[in-house]
Amino acid sequence: MTAVAVNRDTTVDWMRRFAQEMAEHRQELVELDTAIGDGDHGTNMDRGMRKAMEKLAESAPGDPGAVLKTVAMALVSSVGGAAGPLYGTLLLQMGNALANRDEVDVVTFAAAWRRGLDGVVARGKAQPGDKTMVDALTPAVHALEQAHDLDGGLVEAAQAAEQGMYATTPLVARRGRASYLGERSAGHQDPGATSSYYLLRSAVAALAD
Ligand SMILES: [Mg+2]
Repeated sequence: MTAVAVNRDTTVDWMRRFAQEMAEHRQELVELDTAIGDGDHGTNMDRGMRKAMEKLAESAPGDPGAVLKTVAMALVSSVGGAAGPLYGTLLLQMGNALANRDEVDVVTFAAAWRRGLDGVVARGKAQPGDKTMVDALTPAVHALEQAHDLDGGLVEAAQAAEQGMYATTPLVARRGRASYLGERSAGHQDPGATSSYYLLRSAVAALAD
């Protein structure tokens, strides 16, 4: 496989595909969040990514970092609850790491993901095993850091995110609204880990061949 570079156009395509995933899986995310939260995750993410795509079309940012920062700001300003600030932080920190970069290699991209994940952890105070998006993102970032090329690394990162997503099902939530349910939160897949898997899957579709 040959690598598709992370550049301005492929980053826009990544975000476009993520917006599409959020629209297609809106109901699934609503149902997952209804089981252990307040049921708004699918609606929020779909609305936020629609707004983000409008902002991208209006402002036409010139590099991958600026693309991600534009999406981050749109999510922060249009998505309530925890998801807006957390996805906003993830993409803002990634955008900062990629500021003024043109073609991004796997090492730089992995470092950007690490910075994004660190931002999410600092903001949400969740650790792996708390039944949150961190459970999908942590193994994904680790896989990307071990990778030698972008294609293979992204595929492995998405697989790791998927496994991390499934692994949230038996967990008892320790952060977020689901933690109010205590033991009753076990037996349900975490909605934030699920949307995070879709973010990685969109990256494979846009940035890997
Ligand atoms: Mg919610």
